[in-house]
Amino acid sequence: GPLLEAVDVHKAFGPTPALDGAAIRLWPGEVVAVMGPSGSGKSTLLHCLAGILRPDSGTVYYRGAELSSMSDVARSELRRTDFGFVFQFGQLVPELTCLENVALPLRLGGQRRREAERAATEWLERLEVADVANKRPGETSGGQGQRVAVARALVTGPKVVFADEPTGALDSLNGERVMKLLVNAAKDTGAAVVLVTHEARVAAYSDREVVVRDGRTRQVELAQ
Ligand code: ADP
Ligand code: ADP
Repeated sequence: GPLLEAVDVHKAFGPTPALDGAAIRLWPGEVVAVMGPSGSGKSTLLHCLAGILRPDSGTVYYRGAELSSMSDVARSELRRTDFGFVFQFGQLVPELTCLENVALPLRLGGQRRREAERAATEWLERLEVADVANKRPGETSGGQGQRVAVARALVTGPKVVFADEPTGALDSLNGERVMKLLVNAAKDTGAAVVLVTHEARVAAYSDREVVVRDGRTRQVELAQ
């Protein structure tokens, strides 16, 4: 079956629903772009899929298990072990070096400093940002910072990477570089990617698109 699936998901924060019967299926290793205008419900869908938000109704399944009925503790453990996250900006800890930021998820998982930093170094090299290892995030460019963030999302070997407008704060050249490195790294490790974007240029890196409009989803078959 699918790795991750949302079925008839409804979520409202006020009178107008943010999600109104959304559905999506993610297969292992697939890169799916979630597209649509601002306010259409893309981030809310991502948060429901990642177990950050509980749907008002409908079901999210991860590897066949109901995510929406797990305890908060079980869901946050699952996020740590199986999911990686990349946001638009501001996700790195400013007091830590880039190397320490990438090592952090491994340290939180109980790995010793030496092994965690060795793995983090490899990931920084893979994302072509080994040169900023000892800098703090505030001392890097936006593109470098996002590549560090991608390294941090992938260092634990997640099954799913959730990327919410990962290039939203970058110019097109740096955005494309981040997307190429993210998608190549995901393909190499077999991670699936849920990529939220409103830019066709960014969605072009996906295998498939799902369009969200007024909280409803539409699956798009790509003619390639
Ligand atoms: P998108 O990611 O497509 O821009 P969102 O999922 O962020 O859309 O938002 C969908 C709708 O839900 C918007 O009207 C937004 O203002 C609202 N919304 C999202 N999150 C919250 C929240 N935590 N509290 C209140 N309203 C929210
Ligand atoms: P962006 O426009 O950068 O995509 P979003 O609209 O997705 O930002 O919102 C960013 C964060 O704020 C999300 O966590 C979302 O759930 C929350 N949010 C969005 N709209 C509202 C709102 N009206 N009230 C409270 N929180 C909101």
